[in-house]
Amino acid sequence: MKNSNFKEKAFRLLQQSVYRTQRFMQGRNGTDFLSKDLYRLALILFVISLFIRNAVLSGIVTVLMAYVLFRTLSKNLGARQRENALYCEKRRIFLSKAAFEKRKWDDRKTYRYYVCPSCGRKLRVPKGRGKIEVHCPCGNSFDRKS
Ligand SMILES: [Zn+2]
Repeated sequence: MKNSNFKEKAFRLLQQSVYRTQRFMQGRNGTDFLSKDLYRLALILFVISLFIRNAVLSGIVTVLMAYVLFRTLSKNLGARQRENALYCEKRRIFLSKAAFEKRKWDDRKTYRYYVCPSCGRKLRVPKGRGKIEVHCPCGNSFDRKS
């Protein structure tokens, strides 16, 4: 009997603290992609700083953590959402460029990539065919060595 009473109290206490935390976070930004990635970066730098004792690195970790905390607790939702949207867009562009560079590297023995001088589109042509005329879907064609 005594044991179940203790469990009940502990559960109620836990419920209360969850409820209080939820109320505290109401109207605040919480965690978003930008905060999560900054937190991961801070964590990586923190682990590095354990091996390389450097005041500047420790300072960067502290500032990053403070900024993550500020963004999470911020009530200026408009500004935080704009920052997050800008970050997500830059991240998307970076990842698509990185994926393209990886594909170029994987194909390096069988394909060559050229940029159309007229529209800027990236074109892939098979390697080792000598001098060829490259046709772009925009209608432009140009001579290149493959
Ligand atoms: Zn073109």
